[in-house]
Amino acid sequence: MSAITFNVTFSVKDILRDPRIRKALRDREDAHLKNIDWLDEDLAEKRHLENIAWLDEDLTEKRHLENIAWLDEDLTEKRHLENIQLLDEDLAEKYQMKKDERRGGYDEQKCDARIWLDGLDNVQCSFNKKGGCFCKRHQNLSDKNSGVWWLGKINKPRPENPYGPPHLPEMRNGKRTHVRIHKWINSKP
Ligand SMILES: [Zn+2]
Repeated sequence: MSAITFNVTFSVKDILRDPRIRKALRDREDAHLKNIDWLDEDLAEKRHLENIAWLDEDLTEKRHLENIAWLDEDLTEKRHLENIQLLDEDLAEKYQMKKDERRGGYDEQKCDARIWLDGLDNVQCSFNKKGGCFCKRHQNLSDKNSGVWWLGKINKPRPENPYGPPHLPEMRNGKRTHVRIHKWINSKP
C-alpha cells in the first residue's frame, strides 16, 4: 500500500463554524476576561493601599503641624508668664530702691511734707520748697485743709493714726477710695 496524500483546503468560515473550535475560542475568551478582572481587582487593592498610605502621611503631617502649633502656644504662654514674673521682680526691685533712696535724712532744700510710703514715717517729699516750707502741691493741699498737711512735717513728730488723705472723697464711682486710718509700720498697738 502506498501512501496517499490529501490536499485539503478549509475555509476560515468552515473552521469557525465547527462547534469544538467555537467552544475552544469561547473558553479562551472567558479565561482572558477573568484574568483582566483579577488584574483590575489587584490594581484596585494596590491603589487602595497607596491611598491609605497617603492618608496616613497626610494625617501624620497634620498632627505634626498641630503639635507644633500647640507647642508654640504653650511656649508663648510660658514666655508670657516668665516676662510677667521678670517685670514683677523688676518692679519690686525698683520700688525697693526708691523706698531705700527716699528713706532717711532731712533735706532742708526739699518740701517738709511727710509723704505716705508703705507706712514709713520718715519719707520726705522730693520736690523743692516753693517760698514757704512746702512744694507747690503740698502747699495747695494744705491750704485746702486749714493749712495743715495731714501727715505732718518731716522735721516734726508724726501724727498717730492719721485719717485721710482729706483731699480725696471717701467714695468714688461707688467704690471706696484709699481714704482710711493710716497705720505706720512701727505704730504702737
Ligand atoms: Zn511736697
